[in-house]
Amino acid sequence: MALRRVATTVVEVYKMHQKIVVVDERLVLLGSLNVLSQSDSREVMLVMQGKCFARKLLQHERAQTFAHPPACGRCGGTQVDLRRTKAQGWYWRCYAPTPQPKPNGKPDRCGWTSQVDAGRLNGSRRPAGKVRSRDQ
Ligand SMILES: [Zn+2]
Repeated sequence: MALRRVATTVVEVYKMHQKIVVVDERLVLLGSLNVLSQSDSREVMLVMQGKCFARKLLQHERAQTFAHPPACGRCGGTQVDLRRTKAQGWYWRCYAPTPQPKPNGKPDRCGWTSQVDAGRLNGSRRPAGKVRSRDQ
C-alpha cells in the first residue's frame, strides 16, 4: 500500500466510506474523494486549517484509541483491521490468510478478534464497549 511508505501510522478500517486526512493535527481534508485512488468520478474535498478543528475531529474519530492496531493474538501477524458492528461495537480482526484454503478453494482467514474499548464521546448515547477477546 502506497500510503504505508509516507505515513507513520496506517489503520485499515473495514467498510469505512468516509475520507478524512489530518496532517500534523492542523490541516484537515474532508469529503468524498479517495485521495490515493481517484480516477474519473466527481468528488468533493474540503480543506480546512486549524488546530482546534483538527483535534476535535481526531477526538471524534477516536484516533488515539485506534492508532495502534495490535499484533494478532493467534498468528502474530499484523494484517489486522478495525471493524464495527452494532451488536459487537469496535473490534480488531486479523485477515491474514491461513496456510490451508477453504474447501471451495478461496483463502481462509485467521479470524482472530479482539474487542476495542472505544470509550464514550461527550454527548454520545452509546455506552462504552466491553473489553474482551475471543481467542485468548
Ligand atoms: Zn492472525
